[in-house]
Order: sequence, then structure tokens, then C-alpha cells
Amino acid sequence: MQCDEVQELIYLEAAGAEDAAARSVIRDHLAKGCVICQAALAEATAAAAQLPLNLPPCPPSESVKKELMRRIKTATPLSQSERTSATPEPKRMPRKLLLWPLVISTSLAAAMFLVAILSLQANENLSREHLKDLTALASLQKSFLRDTARLSQLSHQMHDAVAMEKRKILSLETKLAAAESLKAMIGSPALEMASLHGSSPMRTAWGRVMWNDKMKMWKLCVFNMPHLPNSKTYEVWMITSGGKKMPAGLFNTDYKTQSALVTPAVPPNKHEMAEIAVTIEPAGGSPQPTGAILLAGHIG
Ligand SMILES: [Zn+2]
Repeated sequence: MQCDEVQELIYLEAAGAEDAAARSVIRDHLAKGCVICQAALAEATAAAAQLPLNLPPCPPSESVKKELMRRIKTATPLSQSERTSATPEPKRMPRKLLLWPLVISTSLAAAMFLVAILSLQANENLSREHLKDLTALASLQKSFLRDTARLSQLSHQMHDAVAMEKRKILSLETKLAAAESLKAMIGSPALEMASLHGSSPMRTAWGRVMWNDKMKMWKLCVFNMPHLPNSKTYEVWMITSGGKKMPAGLFNTDYKTQSALVTPAVPPNKHEMAEIAVTIEPAGGSPQPTGAILLAGHIG
């Protein structure tokens, strides 16, 4: 028998043919010392040992199962009749070769099944990764929105704080400007002053009026005058030498100090003024005094 024929038998045996005659042929051939077929046997044995390890356990498909059963049914009677016949060797080889398509188709089915399983697993892994990414993205989006809202809130708070500080600065600037102009008015040699005295029912009240013709500034300080309720107001009057009373501004005193610093609205014909006086009037003031004069001083 030729080496390639022996090797075919070797591969069939390795694939599980289990034929005693084939084994005997192989044994006899190898006993002659053919190193090529010995190597083929070693290779086939190793490959057969590795095959089940490389393939995942998988049930064959229904069509493969049916085909296998059909071949077993058709092959078995032939095999038995062949075994009882007198000429064993030449007739058995083609029968063993019939197993090749079955081995190949089963291996192919297993490989295709494996590929399908692997691609399914790969798809599943990809989907899982995608889902993970989407979840991370949603979480990032949520935290971004939270940060944006917080930032907006902080920005509003900052804006309010800045606006408040600006108002404070403006108020301080106004006070500073008033204090500086008062300082300039009092420090000037053009300053003139007159005292005001209280009369019944506010005898302890007193005041001082200052003016600076150069700077066109007037200031009136009053003391010992009780703080008025909201329904009433103090009103300043400029009185001419002819007795004409002109309204020159409204004020209330501080609740605690019972005093006030007032800037009277002095009419332009200031030189005609002879007296400055204070009365109590209804809230909003009156065009002419309705109450008694409580505080008065000569400025003529
Ligand atoms: Zn050989």
C-alpha cells in the first residue's frame, strides 16, 4: 500500500473511524519503519486531541442531526455485510471515505455556529459599551445642567451684591459731597448765621440758620423738636419784611436725637426776607401756615 493511502487511513482512524482492518494495515506499514507515515500518525493524533478543546460544546442543528442519522442507518447494514465477507481490505476503504463529508459538514456547522455565537457576543458587548457611554453622557449632561444652574444663581447673587455695593458707594459719595460743601460753606468768611428760638408750646426748641451768599447755600439746624407722626410735618417759612410767608421746605426730626439738618428752599428775592420760621402742618405741607409758629429767627 502506498504511503498516501496509509495516511488517509491514519486520518480516518484519528477522526474516530475505529476499523480493525485499517488499524492492522497501518500497524504493518509503520512496522516497516516508514518515518513519513509515523510523522503523519503523530500529527493526526495531536490534531484529533486538540479538536474538541478548540470547539465550544454546541448541539448540531436539526438538519445535521437528521443527515447523520440517515447516514448511520444507511451505512450500518453495509458495514456488517462487509465484515462477514471474505475480502476485507480493498472494499472497506471507500466506506470509510464516506464518513469524510459528514466530518467536514459537522465541523463546518460547528464553526459557523461558533462564528454566529462570537458575533452575537461581540454585538452584545458593543451594545453594552454603547449603553454605558450613553449613561455616562446622561450623567455628565445632568451634572452640567446642575453646574449651569448653580453658576446662574451665583451670578445673580453676585449681581445683587455688586448693585448693593454700588448703592452704598453712591450714598457715601453723596454724603461726602454734602459734608465737603458744608465744610466749605462754614469755613468761608462769607458765612452768616442767625439763631432761632422756640415759642409756646415748644419753648425748649431752638435752632441756627447759616447761609453763604457767595455759594448760594442755606442750612438750618433745629434741636429739641419731637419727631412727628406720619400724618404731620414740620414746614419752613421765609417771611418778608411785609409779613408775606413763603413755603421753604418740609422736614421731620430724628426720632432719637429730636434734631434735623435742613436745606431750606430760599426764594430768589432773598434780600426781601426778614424772618425764618417753622410750623407743624398736615403731611404734604400747606401753601400758607395753618399752625402756630413754633420756632423763629431774624435774618434781615
Ligand atoms: Zn509510509
